[in-house]
Amino acid sequence: MIESLLIVNRGEIACRIIRTARAMGIRTIAVYSDADATALHVRDADQAVHIGPGPARQSYLVGEAIIAAARDTGAQAIHPGYGFLSENADFAQSVLDAGLVWVGPRPDSIRAMGLKDAAKARMIAAGVPVTPGYLGADQSPERLASAAADIGYPVLIKAVAGGGGKGMRRVDTPAEFADALASCQREAASSFGNTAVLLEKYILSPRHIEVQVFGDTQGTIVHLFERDCSLQRRHQKVIEEAPAPGMDDASRAAICAAAVKAAKAVDYVGAGTIEFIADASDGLRADRIWFMEMNTRLQVEHPVTEAITGIDLVEWQLRVASGEPLPMRQDELRITGWAIEARLYAENPATGFLPSIGRLDHFALPTELRIETGVAAGGEVSAFYDPMIAKLIVHRADRADAIDRLKQACERVECAPVHTNAWFLARLLAAPGYAAGTATTAFIADHLDTLADDPEPSPALLQAAGDALVARHSSGGGASRMPAGLRGFRLNADRVNRIELVADGKPYTVALSQPGAGLYASRDRPGVSIDEDGHVTAFELGQSFSIRVPRVEGAASGPATDGVILAPMPGRIIAVDVVAGAIVTKGQKIVTLEAMKMEHSLTAPFDGVVADLAAAVGGQVAEGTRLARIERSEPPAA
Ligand code: ADP
Repeated sequence: MIESLLIVNRGEIACRIIRTARAMGIRTIAVYSDADATALHVRDADQAVHIGPGPARQSYLVGEAIIAAARDTGAQAIHPGYGFLSENADFAQSVLDAGLVWVGPRPDSIRAMGLKDAAKARMIAAGVPVTPGYLGADQSPERLASAAADIGYPVLIKAVAGGGGKGMRRVDTPAEFADALASCQREAASSFGNTAVLLEKYILSPRHIEVQVFGDTQGTIVHLFERDCSLQRRHQKVIEEAPAPGMDDASRAAICAAAVKAAKAVDYVGAGTIEFIADASDGLRADRIWFMEMNTRLQVEHPVTEAITGIDLVEWQLRVASGEPLPMRQDELRITGWAIEARLYAENPATGFLPSIGRLDHFALPTELRIETGVAAGGEVSAFYDPMIAKLIVHRADRADAIDRLKQACERVECAPVHTNAWFLARLLAAPGYAAGTATTAFIADHLDTLADDPEPSPALLQAAGDALVARHSSGGGASRMPAGLRGFRLNADRVNRIELVADGKPYTVALSQPGAGLYASRDRPGVSIDEDGHVTAFELGQSFSIRVPRVEGAASGPATDGVILAPMPGRIIAVDVVAGAIVTKGQKIVTLEAMKMEHSLTAPFDGVVADLAAAVGGQVAEGTRLARIERSEPPAA
């Protein structure tokens, strides 16, 4: 067995790998960038090595620095986690060349599956069913457009080097093809440095089903059943479960056999996942499931497989990497119960899922289920990395119970001032269409309006917040002892016990429970806490609200920041979709920002008129730059 392990990753997966390695008596070594100097994975590991500045290209992606760190610390083996260098065959080879153990498949297997076009060609040769499409070397827009016409619309353009849901465009009509191709290639160039694309028939009613496989160096390959990852947003998984709802024995046997065949075709060693797409227009059927791609690493969603099989997949990885045979035979593997995972992202669904970065002043997760996280209260969500901050995993005897438990857990997530998608996850888990077990990959997009609709605080929550603010104000005994933030605020509580409040920039008139109610109100409501700034932070159903009394100036018309669109992170303006003075409706795209390698649409928060427009295409903007302001077309209802 290997005795020391260097983990080339960060966040939850680094912490998760360290945990198992430690339980196996293996010494753990973390690496970290400037941005992660105080991160959880650094604290968890036995030893940690600084490898460079914040940007991943200068730290977590610098192979030489990592191999040097392994040498300096006497690490025997390297675990890449997922993302970063995990599917980089050249890096895997250089690890082996340095005489270290690579916890992953052989470089040739990674290479064979690395580019989507080559992988598909190989699977066709191995007799694995693949989605119909175009894999040609001729990448001229004319040839691609004619191939798309031959396949028949809708088609999906995929960057051959793509991953993580990036570099994909669905195209419904020939007229949209050229623009979609250009945008896809632009994203592919900036994210993967490779503009080549393939085309696929876009499967209608698609469900994403994937199979966990495992191989050892003796040549044995087993599968560990399937996962359903159909709940996706922009091709990125949001909620995953195992087993797949509605999977009958025949379909399971077919898809799992195809997965093992695919893994055998590339002499697979270690943990891998074969992703399939199923045409579920008529339920799951064995003859309507096609190979999509193989991920030659551990997946984000591996815990649901661990839950239903009772296996620690990281332990298996470390055993296999040490040359041991697989601990179990295929006929010893069973599915027990139902497991679901929800990915908690630092992002705001109500603003088009913009990543939310900054300090986690308050971060509390429920404890009665499996949690994987790489951050803690006081930690920082940095713009350099993926905004996934935690995973919540439940395992119950049946699916309905699992859904219910996970929904409740998401509702109890408390995070501020960084926004999370916890409330969105809870709504998703409560959606009847999800409970039915037939949701396709279009489910989130189809229900986005209701799922991501800006949450409103409940009257009870506003009342508790109002009580807390009044109590704080009236117990102060004069302006000098007032919380700093309440000085210069107008506390407009009238004799009929109503108060004007502003919650997340929106004005409300709130009835107080008692005139001058005491601080007990905040104690009664554990979700409400008042800070020195005179703001109340209130949590409800996975949402967080920042509530305060209106500022004296312009209190009646709402705060001065109402309707202002700020750059949520540093980035480059790649499109401005409106002109100053334009009439816009809530949700309409105003500006597109490219940041964190993704395109983010900034949208109008309500119906109105574009009052100021300070964004220009090509402009580089800092976080917090004012890009536009929307003036409400009508005063909001009180
Ligand atoms: P990535 O490597 O970026 O994860 P995939 O090829 O695995 O890309 O596809 C990601 C998601 O895109 C799938 O889970 C599925 O939802 C959707 N998708 C991929 N191919 C198709 C297709 N041919 N038809 C419909 N949806 C597809």
